[in-house]
Amino acid sequence: MKMQRRNFLKTGSFAIASLAFASRAVAQQKPAQLDEKDAQAQALGYRNDAAQVDKKKFANWQTGQTCANCAQYQGKPSDASGPCAIFPGKQVSAKGWCSVWQKKA
Ligand code: SF4
Repeated sequence: MKMQRRNFLKTGSFAIASLAFASRAVAQQKPAQLDEKDAQAQALGYRNDAAQVDKKKFANWQTGQTCANCAQYQGKPSDASGPCAIFPGKQVSAKGWCSVWQKKA
């Protein structure tokens, strides 16, 4: 009986440690990069490179507007990509743009 309890405690401790490690690894994973072919991305004219924006279709785009200086961008200015409030769970390119762009305050 004593041996069973010891084994149970060992196994349980190992399982808890494994779960803690796995959940930390998941938390540290960066979300996937937003695909330009994503339906919402296409509807909003998102491009990974603002220079590639369809200027005829999205005439509101102006030189200098990028995700990095958009109010919706949640990454650091030095990051190559970061989260965006419009595309939850995805990373957008700091050099990107979409028609929701609004100047960061
Ligand atoms: Fe980039 Fe702003 Fe559009 Fe998000 S809302 S994709 S940060 S331009």
